[in-house]
Amino acid sequence: MVGAGIVGLATAARLAARGDDVVVIDKEDDVAAHQTGRNSGVVHSGLYYAPGSLKARLGVAGSRSMVAFAREHDVAVDVCGKLVVATSDDEVPRLHALLERGTANGIDGLRLVTPAEAREVEPHVACVAALHVPGTGIVDYRGVCAVLARQAREAGGALRLGVRALAARTASDGVQVALEGGEVLRADALIACAGLYADRFARASGVDPQARIVPFRGEYYELAPGAADLVRGLIYPVPDPRFPFLGVHLTRMIRGGTHAGPNAVLALAREGYRWRDVVPADVLDAVTWPGLWRLAPGKLSIAAGEVVRSASRHVFARSLARLVPGITAADLVPAPAGVRAQALGRDGRLVDDFLVARAPRQLHVINAPSPAATASLEIARHLESLLV
Ligand SMILES: Cc1cc2nc3c(=O)[nH]c(=O)nc-3n(C[C@H](O)[C@H](O)[C@H](O)COP(=O)(O)OP(=O)(O)OC[C@H]3O[C@@H](n4cnc5c(N)ncnc54)[C@H](O)[C@@H]3O)c2cc1C
Repeated sequence: MVGAGIVGLATAARLAARGDDVVVIDKEDDVAAHQTGRNSGVVHSGLYYAPGSLKARLGVAGSRSMVAFAREHDVAVDVCGKLVVATSDDEVPRLHALLERGTANGIDGLRLVTPAEAREVEPHVACVAALHVPGTGIVDYRGVCAVLARQAREAGGALRLGVRALAARTASDGVQVALEGGEVLRADALIACAGLYADRFARASGVDPQARIVPFRGEYYELAPGAADLVRGLIYPVPDPRFPFLGVHLTRMIRGGTHAGPNAVLALAREGYRWRDVVPADVLDAVTWPGLWRLAPGKLSIAAGEVVRSASRHVFARSLARLVPGITAADLVPAPAGVRAQALGRDGRLVDDFLVARAPRQLHVINAPSPAATASLEIARHLESLLV
């Protein structure tokens, strides 16, 4: 296995439990160092995803299995529910469409509520209508990963951290994985869950990833202590259907505090957590991909708006104040960012669903954006079913 994020670890724990001899390679010295350890910590209910898609199927099942797993292993989790709020009349039809989609995906308890009912849940929210999603939760994904890593080890698996996998090659009797430093591992099969490097590792291994990873940084602020009382749980805007991200939202974190964000700006490095992180090869990778230039103009204008919001705390605060009017720029304290690995097709379409590229004895998880942390235990089950 390559990648000790939540998808790799969930898969390793699952395969080790059935008796496979599993080795997980990660270039970092600790597990969950990238997307998994830098996300919003939300257990999504499966509201947004096209019925029948992997995201819908594995996401809805995952929301249940993740909560059950956390409870069983004493990982902090709280099913606090969330509100998706329409702040203008033109968003109301999209709220209805979300309700229909969520219902089609089998989510229980969804309810359209009036502004007065919304304020019973979140006393400071402003809206013309809202959707209450009682099954959404928050969890400690790093804690989940610690349990998964322990389970993998206890079942006989090994974690080799701090070593980069360079490429894999399928041979007649197995697969060989070349590691930095010259070592070559031999295995019956390889599963790569390499997140921000998924396409590059697939290409290096002779597998067509069918897409390129474009890194979208998500910047967060933390609400200052005085303002944190303005939010009880999770408050989300109605997402813009032209964009795969959910819009800046307010999220109570399981370890305390309330996060505001993330926005979505094109990062200038795959692991570019700040504007000043620039890796020319990563920029080249993005700009030489035809898909980037074929992105629909609508998406480019949203992207430009996200850059403005990144540059100005006041603009960021204005987006939040649409949801909770009391929030101002003075309430926002910068918090660490995350970078999303979003696959972009050659045709300029952002790959919507989870995507796995397959070759003999190799599986490469190419697109596993949100809600892949929520769905990770189910993605592991899915990957196991693809191993032949
Ligand atoms: C800002 C943000 C907010 C999000 N919010 C949520 C949320 O609230 N709920 C939710 O369900 N999902 C959320 N997500 C999505 C979720 O975090 C990801 O879908 C999930 O973490 C993906 O896990 P992963 O294991 O595929 O990738 P990662 O966690 O990125 O792990 C990939 C691992 O592969 C390693 N690696 C890469 N290349 C190599 C190599 N060549 N050799 C060795 N190791 C390598 C990396 O070091 C890394 O540890 C969010 C993501 C972001 C970025």
